[in-house]
Amino acid sequence: TPAPLYLTGNKDGLREFLSKFDVFLFDCDGVLWSGDHIFPGTVETLELLRKNGKQVVFVTNNSTKSRADYCKKLQGLGIPSTVEEVFSSSYSASIYISRILDLPKDKKKVFVIGETGIEQELRAENVPFIGGTDPAYRRDIQPQDYKLIAEGDSSILDPEVGVVLVGLDFHLNYLKLALAFHYVKRGAVFLATNIDSTLPNSGTLFPGAGSMSAPLIMMLGSEPTSLGKPSQAMMDAIEGKFKFDRSRACMVGDRVNTDIRFGLEGKLGGTLGVLTGVSSKDEFVSGAVRPHAYLDKLSDLLGSGL
Ligand code: PLP
Ligand code: CA
Repeated sequence: TPAPLYLTGNKDGLREFLSKFDVFLFDCDGVLWSGDHIFPGTVETLELLRKNGKQVVFVTNNSTKSRADYCKKLQGLGIPSTVEEVFSSSYSASIYISRILDLPKDKKKVFVIGETGIEQELRAENVPFIGGTDPAYRRDIQPQDYKLIAEGDSSILDPEVGVVLVGLDFHLNYLKLALAFHYVKRGAVFLATNIDSTLPNSGTLFPGAGSMSAPLIMMLGSEPTSLGKPSQAMMDAIEGKFKFDRSRACMVGDRVNTDIRFGLEGKLGGTLGVLTGVSSKDEFVSGAVRPHAYLDKLSDLLGSGL
């Protein structure tokens, strides 16, 4: 692939780049904001794109929130948005389970490692689930649990569980890992909302959702199907919903191994990197996965003068 175009301050280049696309898929954290701090010019930049007839979709790997939660976050930061414009990994995983997976009638339950975002989206798709934020699973393992699990006792291993879905869980514990392991061993489909090893917070990194499935990968020797960026299952679901021409779509992101790879493998017309998040200029310019173009920051798009 050719060296990426550096578009900051290049008015003609920016205009030409923007004219190639009808749809912009936006990664959120690291592009529009960092944590709870919105980057200056984010609102104006999205306004500019909308004013010029571009469709925007917010695509986030954050599984702890539902689409409605995310919409609230966007609006709270002053970004006008609708639930329909948000595509989160919690939603992506939920529609994959309800619409793509063909589960036997008696194996429709999901064992959740994760937070309320996943639970809300599963509920919206009428997918039954256990685990998650239920206090019954947020406890230490007890001596009698081992025996019950070994015997496959239905009081601890629900025979209707056909899927294990792993997202970020702030209360991950030994009991949940043991149950998830046994469900998959008994034939449940192993899914992950996303496999980001880490996530940024307060200027450093913390364990990401991928670090929740890592112990299970260690135990099982198999990988989950991921429904977040860069998985093309997520791209297919986004395309199915928004019906856009991939050659006229651009993925905007801060992370090469999730966002940029997502756009490149999805054969989108463009990928645009911004330097306000995880990946560095060095990675954009000389890494193995390079965007088509990059900017110092998203609001440099305002320099197009459109
Ligand atoms: N997962 C969690 C739990 C997060 O909090 C975040 C960022 O806020 C992410 C993933 C990464 O999200 P994004 O894909 O919007 O960068
Ligand atoms: Ca990001």
